[in-house]
Amino acid sequence: MIHLQNVSKTYPSNQGKSAPEFIAVQPSSLQVEQGQVYGIVGFSGAGKSTLLRLINLLEVPTTGSVHVDGQDLTMLSQEELRIARRSIGMIFQNFNLLSNKTALQNVEFALDVAGIDAASRKKRALECLDIVGLSDKAGHYPAQLSGGQKQRVAIARALANNPKVLLCDEPTSALDPHTTLSLLKFLKEINRKWKVTIVIVTHEINVVKYLCDEVAVMENGHIIETLDMRDPHVQP
Ligand code: ADP
Ligand code: ADP
Repeated sequence: MIHLQNVSKTYPSNQGKSAPEFIAVQPSSLQVEQGQVYGIVGFSGAGKSTLLRLINLLEVPTTGSVHVDGQDLTMLSQEELRIARRSIGMIFQNFNLLSNKTALQNVEFALDVAGIDAASRKKRALECLDIVGLSDKAGHYPAQLSGGQKQRVAIARALANNPKVLLCDEPTSALDPHTTLSLLKFLKEINRKWKVTIVIVTHEINVVKYLCDEVAVMENGHIIETLDMRDPHVQP
């Protein structure tokens, strides 16, 4: 479902033009099978978030190719990429909801961007809020919702276009342990029920243990190890 080949990402140096570039992700390869929950772990600054954002080309790779669902995203035109991205949902640590829009409008926004007409948009958005158990909060603004509820709205938005892949960047870092667990259950259900392939960046070992089939460990921009979590001998 996802295949990154020799991708790297360098940023211009902030020490002036003559200084060497900064390498956030070194040539790394990553393969995620359809229906897997794949974890990316490592210390802060290891390049996890950059690697995740390379998958939907939020970061354009400096080298390498990014295949998702059979297409090399690096070869697509802007318009083709826009369409391909509909099948890749994303959620973030800080939820990234629009604060001046209600829960319903936040979900509708993703459908609007995908060119869905107003009537179908509202129906689908309500359906997605129902999936995440927040039908009764449709008219609430983000400020009126708890952290866990905000993340559920973000998930509803990410699911609106029936994605094949869901990218999660530290989705539970801002949540308390109880809310974290209910969110993890929920992600697992999405994975099981709709076979959505999930890639999740986290530094929490419990998240890995509960959710992941396979884990890539990152250090200094490299994937230094991959662990098969279904192997009973692996102790993360
Ligand atoms: P992690 O998610 O593991 O904490 P990141 O992928 O966020 O790591 O960052 C990896 C490295 O790349 C860090 O040293 C970070 O400072 C650097 N970095 C990330 N984004 C940028 C950027 N836009 N410009 C310059 N450096 C960046
Ligand atoms: P059924 O319940 O008839 O087996 P599904 O479980 O496939 O049908 O879908 C039920 C609802 O879930 C539909 O509204 C569908 O749009 C929605 N759905 C299906 N796949 C996804 C997905 N990947 N993300 C979000 N919603 C989905």
